[in-house]
Amino acid sequence: MARLDEVGTPTLDLHLHSTASDGQLSPADVVSLAARHGLRTIALTDHDSTDGINDAQTAGNLLGIEVIPGIELSTAVDAGELHMLGYLIDPNNEQLMARLAQFRDSRDRRAEVMVERLNAAGVVVDLVRVRELSAGGAIGRPHVARALVESGQATSTNDAFERYLIPGRAGFVPHFRLEPVGAIELIHAAGGVAVLAHPFSVADLHTTLLKLVAAGLDGLEVFYSLYNDEQRSLLVTLAERYGLVPTGGSDFHGFGEREGHEIGSSKVPADTVDRLRDAARRLH
Ligand code: AMP
Ligand code: ZN
Ligand code: FE
Ligand code: FE
Repeated sequence: MARLDEVGTPTLDLHLHSTASDGQLSPADVVSLAARHGLRTIALTDHDSTDGINDAQTAGNLLGIEVIPGIELSTAVDAGELHMLGYLIDPNNEQLMARLAQFRDSRDRRAEVMVERLNAAGVVVDLVRVRELSAGGAIGRPHVARALVESGQATSTNDAFERYLIPGRAGFVPHFRLEPVGAIELIHAAGGVAVLAHPFSVADLHTTLLKLVAAGLDGLEVFYSLYNDEQRSLLVTLAERYGLVPTGGSDFHGFGEREGHEIGSSKVPADTVDRLRDAARRLH
């Protein structure tokens, strides 16, 4: 594979969010922004939704940007959460669409419970406003956080998370329980390949990775925006050891919210999508 220092200006970004989940830009605007940053290939990886992919691909066709269909599924592990990326999925796969609709329903109910709990704790949040901010996309903590910032109860989304939305705080409510292995199966059944997102978010990475590899994991998000060279080389070693495709991206959600996640900010090797396609061909 390409060595870290051989990757020049990034032309790929395989981890991007839009208004189909908790991003701030529409799918088409994400694609135009990618074009302005000189990217050639991107993947839209909204949480629990493929609803933005069609619009992103239409915009991509106009602007000469290749848009790879993607998804980011939230899964539950004993130590907290684990995010699984899916690439090259069929966004219209019926089983996938049915499950995603279920996850989004559960996110909607979770938002209600979050708001109830916050209000009970004296933190006034308006559910109607939270729903408005989610604009019909998969609703999540960032929408509640933005409502808290708007009403002056937090100074930034990050502040809102720290005060009210992380485990142990008044507004924290866990997700619908999907196991990581179930997420891999769902992605495979939709014709895609499964990639462990931001691996250092996983508490017991080495043990978990063994289980995921046994369950058919295809890739590892090595070139994640927040990771330094040392972390990336450790992940490169793990990817080689387990035969996983190293992928990467920014986890861009919009402007002025989370530092270090600027679009195109991560050096992702140019052959990454070819390697994902090879993995998908071998599998399907
Ligand atoms: P949810 O899926 O509703 O639990 O929300 C999780 C999402 O919130 C993550 O995917 C990030 O996009 C975002 N997020 C997590 N931590 C923070 C933070 N400290 N500040 C802003 N956004 C965050
Ligand atoms: Zn997000
Ligand atoms: Fe994530
Ligand atoms: Fe993400």
